Amino acid sequence: MTRINANVARGTTGALSCSHCRQELEGTPDDYLTHLPHYEGPVTEAGPQVFPDSAVYIDAEVVFRQYYCPGCYTAFRTEVVPRV
Ligand SMILES: [Zn+2]
Repeated sequence: MTRINANVARGTTGALSCSHCRQELEGTPDDYLTHLPHYEGPVTEAGPQVFPDSAVYIDAEVVFRQYYCPGCYTAFRTEVVPRV
């Protein structure tokens, strides 16, 4: 078992899995995030440290997005990004 990062490991077959619950994950180390379930919400859910009105600075709509493990719901990545 090789650790890809704190949350993802790769087994001897090359399959990825969650380091916390061993849930098998789809994809490769380069694209597994795109296969994970994710939650999107308003920027205010990122916490008080993030300025909530992005329209002051950019034209794109901005969202809070969190990718998580489908087995144990550990958040693998949290970001505030333009909606695509
Ligand atoms: Zn998990």
